[in-house]
Amino acid sequence: MHNKTVSELKKAIEKKEVSSLELTSLFINRIKNMDPELNSFITLTEEHAIDKAKIIDKEISKGILRPLSGIPLAQKDIFCTKDIKTTCGSKMLDNFISPYDATVVEKLNDAGMVIVGKTNMDEFAMGSSNETSFFGDVKNPWDKDYVPGGSSGGSAASVSARLIPCSTGTDTGGSIRQPASLTGICGIKPTYGRVSRFGMIAFASSLDQAGVFTRTAEDSAILLTHISGFDPKDSTSSKNPVPDYAADCTKKFKSLIIGIPSEFLDGLDDKVREVFDENIRILEKNGCKFKKISLKSSKLGVSAYQVVAPAECSSNLSRYDGVRFGYRAKNVKNIEELYKKSRSEAFGPEVKRRILIGTYALSAGYYDAYYLKAQKIRKIISNEFEDAFKEVDLILGPTTPDTAFKLGEKTNDPIAMYLSDVFTVSTNLAGLPAMSIPMGFKNNLPLGLQIIGNHFDESKILSLAHHYQNLTDWHTKSPQEN
Ligand code: GLN
Repeated sequence: MHNKTVSELKKAIEKKEVSSLELTSLFINRIKNMDPELNSFITLTEEHAIDKAKIIDKEISKGILRPLSGIPLAQKDIFCTKDIKTTCGSKMLDNFISPYDATVVEKLNDAGMVIVGKTNMDEFAMGSSNETSFFGDVKNPWDKDYVPGGSSGGSAASVSARLIPCSTGTDTGGSIRQPASLTGICGIKPTYGRVSRFGMIAFASSLDQAGVFTRTAEDSAILLTHISGFDPKDSTSSKNPVPDYAADCTKKFKSLIIGIPSEFLDGLDDKVREVFDENIRILEKNGCKFKKISLKSSKLGVSAYQVVAPAECSSNLSRYDGVRFGYRAKNVKNIEELYKKSRSEAFGPEVKRRILIGTYALSAGYYDAYYLKAQKIRKIISNEFEDAFKEVDLILGPTTPDTAFKLGEKTNDPIAMYLSDVFTVSTNLAGLPAMSIPMGFKNNLPLGLQIIGNHFDESKILSLAHHYQNLTDWHTKSPQEN
């Protein structure tokens, strides 16, 4: 049962082959047995989950079915959950219980899903390896000496290890796609504004977007349909109607023109290139036309991102002052010391680094040189994508330059860490939707294929992903068989 997809579990529940209580207990037991080694969960919400599963089972017995009745899921610990602790991977929020649910949480709860826990993540979503969490590193289920990627490392590792059929994530510069790639699963970051950010703890508000982790494209489509849509509580959420992504992606595949940016392949690792090229051949034989394109400025993406994201985070994180909520330092003499000590004691080194960089980039005298310049690059990157999408339906490339790296390998080299996002950050800067799906292996570690679409073209992305998964079986590989 733990190997079943969301779509299969939905059918099993509807046909009463399994109850929600049985499913929920099964996944909770797997988490209890296997997670001590992986550390993918910060909070297990057993009691809450069992109660909800019983309510759903009672509804089902009365003939009431919600769209995703009784299916267990894990929420990234960046989404506020009423009555359940929300830490954002930080000592700052170690004891924080939100008085409300994030919209994403509310929508999935209303759809009938059962939250079994909150997943581990890089502190305030800043990181690419899940090593900046206050709650310890998450391990990659394919090899526990390796990182699962970040910042949504716990959400990705738990789905990859079959501890849960699906989970939520957030992506500011790659935090859904990069860990999906490194753990061999699917992860989609929709268009900026497609999903409400209400109750999703802010890192860099002009880049943050919620999405999901699943094992198949069809499952991603199912979940995305339920979390998308306008929310009066988030003024940046879009009023565009939400298609039925699952119905769209399983329709007969229509031939597509796909662009491959030369910048994504220049200097790429030989094996990654070989795996990528092989997949292009498969798609070429099966209804896709490929075209070389150029996204010249995408190489500047990481530099622009590492100014814009810290600038926004320095502002967003100013709310953690030890006064209103979060960690409060003890034995302080005055208000200034309260601010200083609370923030010094409760933020980890990566968060402090970002706040410092952001404050510096925004300060008088440096604003034009850094922040304004980064915004100009951002605009150029957006324009290049806009031009590309006049010629192609989708853009394809590897999600990451290489497979997962070893725990500790990049912790002392922030620049090397930041560069693991080289293929993912540009889409956030342009607000575009993108997805990573498994495309093969190098040295027994998974590799991801990134599909980038034009604004609100999630259906096209999912359709190609689904088509690809009909032609290949990488998405069915499980770390336990390894
Ligand atoms: N790895 C990137 C960073 O550290 C992206 C993080 C994210 O998408 N939340 O900023």
